[in-house]
Amino acid sequence: MTPLSPGSTIGILGGGQLGRMLALAAARLGFDVVVLDPEPDCPASRVCARHLVAAYDDLAALDAMAGVCGVVTVEFENVPAGALEALIARGVAVAPGPRALSTAQDRVEEKVFLNAVGAPTVDFHPAATAYEASEAAAALGGHVLVKTRREGYDGKGQAWASSPEQASAVFQSLGGRPVVLEAPAAFRRELSIIAARGWDGAMAAFPLAENSHEAGILRRSIAPARVPLDRAREAEGIAFRVLAGLDYVGVIGIELFELEDGRLLVNEIAPRVHNSGHWTQDGALTDQFEQHIRAIAGWPLGPVEARAQVEMENLLGEDVLRWSGIAAEPNSRLHLYGKREARAGRKMGHVNRVFPL
Ligand code: AMP
Repeated sequence: MTPLSPGSTIGILGGGQLGRMLALAAARLGFDVVVLDPEPDCPASRVCARHLVAAYDDLAALDAMAGVCGVVTVEFENVPAGALEALIARGVAVAPGPRALSTAQDRVEEKVFLNAVGAPTVDFHPAATAYEASEAAAALGGHVLVKTRREGYDGKGQAWASSPEQASAVFQSLGGRPVVLEAPAAFRRELSIIAARGWDGAMAAFPLAENSHEAGILRRSIAPARVPLDRAREAEGIAFRVLAGLDYVGVIGIELFELEDGRLLVNEIAPRVHNSGHWTQDGALTDQFEQHIRAIAGWPLGPVEARAQVEMENLLGEDVLRWSGIAAEPNSRLHLYGKREARAGRKMGHVNRVFPL
């Protein structure tokens, strides 16, 4: 694609914190941003040139977006595929494309795709009935994690079962929706890799991050993670196979389990910028938000090397009330999302604590 000139307009479906930080990065490169989000006061609405307040499948809003945008992107994976198809039908470039989104929207399709491109996952079985859930749990050895196939995030829509009977009860408690049952990954730690691919097929991956979760929500990332060179290369190889396999354009986040024996398994892919990549804002030569904008706008990818060691901490709920103390720390960089209400567990901001390499 011909590189978009500064002054062009970029569309973002979704106006949460990721949309906000994408819009800020786009503005820094001279682009105008139009955000589509049904929430009138969403975080991105206060930093973009124009906010269309409408449902994601609102054809009039998609028309308005198509009329002004050189390219349209997403900040979350559950945008209805129809919205992207409608934009493409109106002749607008969309990145990442509908195939990447639909693959990431369904945990079974995602794992089938990953294994097909040589990106290993835990053993898994789909189930659509309570009986199938108990059979699948038995086939996987009894102790399983049951996840809804669609629309799970931050640990929601999943629960452990320790027997086939329990697996069918968990299936019911998750609403009787189609699920995937996963064998437990005996991981030593959780890592992630953020990578990008341009329209021309060029690819680049940031150094790995090491992540810790609480109650299913990312709490901290440390990056660059201390990993042997061969493991870092393996992660990069996985990322590049995934990007090429999806004919992907933009930044992707890939969550990995590092097993006791050092092998890497993919937990899931996020077809967007990712919370575990926020460290790049203060620790890498290009940050993930700018990298995404560069990739989708047909610009060359930026350099991905680390320039600092970063500990990223998510500020959840009332953590954000600590803002003034954090701002006074000599090595902290505070990023707040402008959300009005600090509900428990809600991502309100993050702090990058920056140390020399
Ligand atoms: P997910 O929603 O798939 O990202 O899962 C949320 C968290 O649950 C992950 O970050 C892991 O800590 C844990 N988890 C997910 N899948 C597995 C698995 N198969 N085995 C062990 N832990 C898992």
